[in-house]
Amino acid sequence: MTSATNGAPTGRSPNARRITILGSTGSIGVSTFELLEYAAARGEADFEIVALTASKNVEMLAEQARKFQPEFVAIADESLKDALQSALADTNIETGAGAAALEEAAAREADWVMAAIVGAAGLKPTLKAAQRGAAIALANKECLVCAGDVVTKAIAEAGGTLLPVDSEHNAIFQVFDFERPHRVSRLILTASGGPFRTWTRDEMASATPAQAVAHPNWSMGAKISVDSATLMNKGLELIEASHIFPVAHEQIEILVHPQSVIHSMVEYVDGSVLAQLGTPDMRTPIATTLAWPDRTPSPSAMLDFAKVSKLTFEPPDFNRFPALRLARDAIAAGGVMSATLNAANEVAVAAFLDDAVKFLDIAAITEQVLEMVSRQGGPAALTTLEEVVAADGEARRLAGECVAARAAA
Ligand code: NAD
Ligand code: MG
Repeated sequence: MTSATNGAPTGRSPNARRITILGSTGSIGVSTFELLEYAAARGEADFEIVALTASKNVEMLAEQARKFQPEFVAIADESLKDALQSALADTNIETGAGAAALEEAAAREADWVMAAIVGAAGLKPTLKAAQRGAAIALANKECLVCAGDVVTKAIAEAGGTLLPVDSEHNAIFQVFDFERPHRVSRLILTASGGPFRTWTRDEMASATPAQAVAHPNWSMGAKISVDSATLMNKGLELIEASHIFPVAHEQIEILVHPQSVIHSMVEYVDGSVLAQLGTPDMRTPIATTLAWPDRTPSPSAMLDFAKVSKLTFEPPDFNRFPALRLARDAIAAGGVMSATLNAANEVAVAAFLDDAVKFLDIAAITEQVLEMVSRQGGPAALTTLEEVVAADGEARRLAGECVAARAAA
C-alpha cells in the first residue's frame, strides 16, 4: 500500500480493491470512509477510490477527493460544475457535473460500490454500477422500492452481488438460509418506533422538522430521519425486504423494539428464530458489506449486555402511523403503487422539511396520490427503467399539486 497526500489511505498496489462511493458526503458515505481509514490505520487497507459523487456540497466533496485521490468526482448540481473544477484545479482528478456525470462515476470500473445517494435520484447511477457486475453495497432503499425488479434483475444478469446495508436487511442477510428459503416462516423487521413512538396524533400534528429529525437511537440524513418519524421508513423497508429475500410480502412482519439492539430476525419452520444484534451504529452493517464473506474490525462500540439489561417489544400502531398501512397496501396492490408511494413520500417529506406542509400531511398527501393513481390504473408490474421513470414522474407531479393545495389552504 502506498499513501497519497495527507497520509490518506489509498492503495495503489496491483491487487488494490477498487471502490466507488455514490453519495460520499452523506451520513452513510462518511461512515464508509471512517471504516476505510480504520482499516488503513491498522495496516489492513489495500484499496483505491475510483469515483465519488455528491449533490451540492462541493467543499466536502473536494476535501474528500484531496484526501482519497479518486480518479473522478461528480456533483449532481450542474450549476456547481465550475466550482468543483476550480476546487480541484491543482490536482489531476477528473471532475464532472449533472446526471450524466453521476452515471459516468457509477459506470467506472470498480469492484465494490457503496450506493448511498438518498431517494430515487440514486436509481440510475446504482443501475449503472449494477450493470457492470460490481458488488453493490446498497443503502439507497428507495431504488429498490421504486424499481426492485429492474435493479435485482440487472445485478443478477451482470453476475454481481447485492449486499444490503440497511441495518435490518443486513441483519437478515447474515442469518437467512438462502439455500433453503422454503424453511423460513417469517422475517421480523424491527423498528425503533422513531422520535414520536409514544406521541398522540394531536401531538404529532404540530411536530416540527427539528423534532422529527431528532432520532433517539440513530444519527442519519434528514430524509430518512423524517421517514423514521412517520414510520414510512419501515414501510419502505418492508418493500425493500421483499425484493432482497425470496419470501412473500405477507411473511414479513414489523415489530417495534425501542432499544434498536436486535436489528431484525428470521423465524424458521421449526420455531427457531435467528437474530443479529449490535449497537446502533451503521459502521457495523457497512463493515459486513465491505468484507463479505469475511469480517473486518469496525470502530463501532461492542454490545454491553449488562448495560442493555432490558429488550422490549410492542406491535406497531397502524392508526397513529398510517404510512405503514400505505406501504403494506402498495406492495399488495403491485404495479405502479410502490414507486408511487416512494415518489409521493419524497415530495411530501421535502415539503415538510421546507415548512410548506405539516407532519401529518406527509402520509395524507402520499395516500391522496396513491388513491389518484390507483384510479388511473397502469402496468401490472414495472419491468423497465422507462416504466419506473414514468410512474415516479407522475406521482411527483400529483404530489406537487397536493403540496401546493395544502400550502395555499
Ligand atoms: P444523507 O442525506 O446524509 O446523504 C445523501 C447523499 O446523497 C449525499 O452525499 C448527497 O449529496 C447525495 N444526494 C442527495 N440528493 C441527491 C441527488 N438528487 N442526486 C445525487 N446525489 C444526491 O443520507 P444518508 O442518511 O446517508 O442516507 C443515504 C441512503 O441510505 C438513503 O437512501 C437512506 O435511506 C439509506 N440509509 C441510511 C441510513 C443511515 O443511518 N444514515 C441507514 C439505513 C439506510
Ligand atoms: Mg433501516
